[in-house]
Amino acid sequence: MPYNIEDIRRDFPILGREIYGKPLVYLDNAATTQKPRCVVEAITDEYYSTNANVHRGVHFLSQQATDLHEAARERVRAFINARSTAEILFTRGTTESLNLVAASFGEAFLHEGDEVILSVMEHHSDIVPWQLLRERKGIVIKVIPMDDEGNLDLDAYAALFSERTRLVCAAHVSNVLGTVNPVRQMAEVAHAHGAYFLVDGAQSIPHFKVDVQELGCDFLTFSGHKIYGPTGIGVLYGREELLEQMPPYQGGGEMISRVTFEHTTYERLPYKFEAGTPDYVGSHALAVAIDYVESLGMDAIAAHEQELTRYAMEQMQQIEGLKVYGRARQKDAVIAFNVGDIHPLDLGTLLDRLGIAIRTGHHCAQPLMARCGVEGMARASFALYNTKAEIDALVAGIERVRKMF
Ligand code: PMP
Repeated sequence: MPYNIEDIRRDFPILGREIYGKPLVYLDNAATTQKPRCVVEAITDEYYSTNANVHRGVHFLSQQATDLHEAARERVRAFINARSTAEILFTRGTTESLNLVAASFGEAFLHEGDEVILSVMEHHSDIVPWQLLRERKGIVIKVIPMDDEGNLDLDAYAALFSERTRLVCAAHVSNVLGTVNPVRQMAEVAHAHGAYFLVDGAQSIPHFKVDVQELGCDFLTFSGHKIYGPTGIGVLYGREELLEQMPPYQGGGEMISRVTFEHTTYERLPYKFEAGTPDYVGSHALAVAIDYVESLGMDAIAAHEQELTRYAMEQMQQIEGLKVYGRARQKDAVIAFNVGDIHPLDLGTLLDRLGIAIRTGHHCAQPLMARCGVEGMARASFALYNTKAEIDALVAGIERVRKMF
């Protein structure tokens, strides 16, 4: 399919909205993306025509709903090129996926004094679960530093390893700096030291092709809502032999094989990690979202967004007093910035009156804010439906605000 931006924008009804009488310019895509019609229709269609609880039902609707849910698992498997659907766990999102790994991998593999390495640009959801584990088990957290451009320091990274290092966790793409971290190379280093490697794919999966076998990672996490799917569904990919050795995360229905009051045995993978009624409507809608991005082509999406990012960097740098945070060698569709002494909250609020939606604040990455020496930043982030005209609107909006101050 040719990349026709006008046709694509028509797939997203919300993009036709006006905000305060101005056309919506939605540049908060790193927080969540808008949904194409096909995804919303998949949700209503399933509730109207196929709704029934999955897995245990003998009746027609239950089997049909189960088929959709399991087909979605296969869809995700193929999308990230996992070896088996046993390696695809449905969760509520990246946050739950990371908490699952911290709780369950942490239980089986981490003991007092064992070390987990995180990068300085991690999202709070890849920091706090490890701190909770530190409180429970006395693990040690080490941090990979970065240079002023936003590239991780790979020499410092290699020097962090000891015989106690068990796991490294790194964002594939920083939700603030846009840095694309060399996770494949980093995973090789971790494996050479006998440690496992987790990739937080929340900000990479929506933007370019991700292949877990090519990356060589042991875990990968992502959220449905950031890739044009619904909220409340996400994925944890884990290598089968690791998941086999990890205890359940939550207990309940669906995850058991046999229960007595004396003893319970667990279901096989991936069900061992999916207690309770899953979000089977969400999983199906996520599969439809994946169909949608693949129909456009991940490479075409990446090329479009790279061009937007290049253009935005070029245009924004013309603005007097504007400082961009993050000029990494490889940078994805996120630009964090501040303008002179203008508080990012004021900037965001005034841009909002012009119909321009950006995010402001610490972006759930306070350690990174501290590293950059600021309390907060403004952030524009791009998606497959954004246009250069919208970037022009952003630049004109920032100029207008700047002149007011
Ligand atoms: N990691 C990164 C890099 C993110 O950008 C986000 C969302 N901003 C998360 C984790 C958390 O994702 P969610 O809120 O969907 O669980």
